[in-house]
Amino acid sequence: MSKCYMCPRACGADRSAEAGACGVRENMRIACADLHFFEEPVISGTRGSGTVFFCGCSLGCVFCQNRDISRGEMPGREINERELADIMLSLEARGAHNINLVTGAHFVSKIATALEMVKGKLSVPVVYNSSGYELPRSLKMLDGLVDIYLPDYKYFSPEISDKYSNAPDYSERAEAALAEMFSQVGKCELGEDGLLKRGMIVRHLVLPSCRADSIAVLERISEILPKNDILVSIMSQYTPEFASDCEFRELHRRVTRFEYDSVLDVADRLGLSGFSQARTSASGVYTPNFKEDNM
Ligand code: SF4
Repeated sequence: MSKCYMCPRACGADRSAEAGACGVRENMRIACADLHFFEEPVISGTRGSGTVFFCGCSLGCVFCQNRDISRGEMPGREINERELADIMLSLEARGAHNINLVTGAHFVSKIATALEMVKGKLSVPVVYNSSGYELPRSLKMLDGLVDIYLPDYKYFSPEISDKYSNAPDYSERAEAALAEMFSQVGKCELGEDGLLKRGMIVRHLVLPSCRADSIAVLERISEILPKNDILVSIMSQYTPEFASDCEFRELHRRVTRFEYDSVLDVADRLGLSGFSQARTSASGVYTPNFKEDNM
């Protein structure tokens, strides 16, 4: 790797010598690899999703619930492609319904190499869990290697995405990324066990004071994607504790029932199907403990 242009930040860092805007150098670093039970039911099932959390992030939202691993001093350890392949196989051996790769946009070429190594050996679906802030040309490296895409569509307004993620181009980038993801995996297919085998779930986290933007996001999803072929997951788990030191006071509270329910009503009106959350999920218990040794 010389200069890196793997994600929309296009910061051009020489990651052999320094970290990029994503906060990490060229070697993959993971914080946690374990069975995880708090994804959508078609992903977590009864035995859990075999989840690998990568350190660093190319988006860097001010309210990030994984901030312990996405910025600053990061826990965990460095791994190479062979080790990632072995971790995936061991998670399957532990009973994982699928392998769930979380926020790996800044390591996508190495992830693709590891997935090539397990091709034909891994018998559970591979899930690629993404902020949505990705480049189609980078995602093409995963074509034929990923079965399920789990991208966010976080913001529509450039003002809001600039304010909270320093990414005024977020919605145009996410829409291009989602189109590429859908072109690779196509419509959702459930197995006989009721779990997702292939397809795409688009996630949206409702933020406090951003109801109109959430509605705009859902409208865009219904315009740019075949809504009968995807699932949409509307999340209420926004946790203000993770934004307590940020300057935006509107983020210092939970989402109200009115805000969340009115966004769900719009999803209904648009004919989007998928998942919603109980408001009790707006708590730190749904955030993995990255300080435990679970690798
Ligand atoms: S992946 Fe990291 S180093 Fe590469 S362009 Fe994006 S932010 Fe910069």
